[in-house]
Amino acid sequence: MAGRFAPSPTGPLHIGSLYTALASFLDAHAEGLAWRLRFDDLDEPRNQPGAKSRILRSLEAHGLHWDGAVERQSERLCLYQAALETLRRKGRVFHCTCSRKVLAESPTYPGHCRERVTPIPNAAIRVRVDDAALEFTDLVQGHQRTRLDRTVGDFVVKRRDGPFAYQLATAVDDGDPSIVRVLRGRDLLANTPRQLHIVTLLDLPAPTYAHIPVLLNRAGQKWSKQTGAPAINDQTPRDNIRACLTLLGLQPPDLGLEPMIEWAKSHWHLSRIGKQDQAFN
Ligand SMILES: [Zn+2]
Repeated sequence: MAGRFAPSPTGPLHIGSLYTALASFLDAHAEGLAWRLRFDDLDEPRNQPGAKSRILRSLEAHGLHWDGAVERQSERLCLYQAALETLRRKGRVFHCTCSRKVLAESPTYPGHCRERVTPIPNAAIRVRVDDAALEFTDLVQGHQRTRLDRTVGDFVVKRRDGPFAYQLATAVDDGDPSIVRVLRGRDLLANTPRQLHIVTLLDLPAPTYAHIPVLLNRAGQKWSKQTGAPAINDQTPRDNIRACLTLLGLQPPDLGLEPMIEWAKSHWHLSRIGKQDQAFN
């Protein structure tokens, strides 16, 4: 049984991703779970050369040691293909050739291609959603209720240009029976109903979710590569971990890196995490 951290290798770790990695690590250990590492690397043009090894080095420098082999979504394509075939057998997918212009005219998928169940070239593959509420309880954000038909509609599981969509791949990976806990940033909460929809259609066990607040920069944007977050300094791991622990509601004593992490494992509790995003400069 495990929790997991699943960065995209689009750049080095920064304060925002270290904060999430640490929270996921502590949460897994506090629950007696293993902590697995997976690279969500299906969006090939966004991957940055060297980012994977740099992220691994940073995690190790910060005392965040993962269990088992590092997984890569790009090496799990046969699992996603099998999932797609299952959805097809269940009559849940169809082939969509709608233009961007047509799609932009409606907030939800307009349903034009719903009857196109036989494969056609140069088409995206979409999964049908239900006209019913989807509910789950998030350990941090509380009870969630969504109508996928009213918010997104039938959504893409395989892109027109070839790659499997993030929603499908992540649903398959997080639906693995060994993954029982998914702790990640609140910015990903809006994806969860789509992933749960696929998990349910595939008869996979759903993990429990915990969506923690994200760190915001001076401009109120989430710290990310796109908003100019600098790479974390691997030469100051103790200070970085200490800052993240404070942001996670802990007050670590003055200890070295490894003893401070051990202290944090035994003091971690999800209830200390607030719901609101936090400023960090
Ligand atoms: Zn269509």
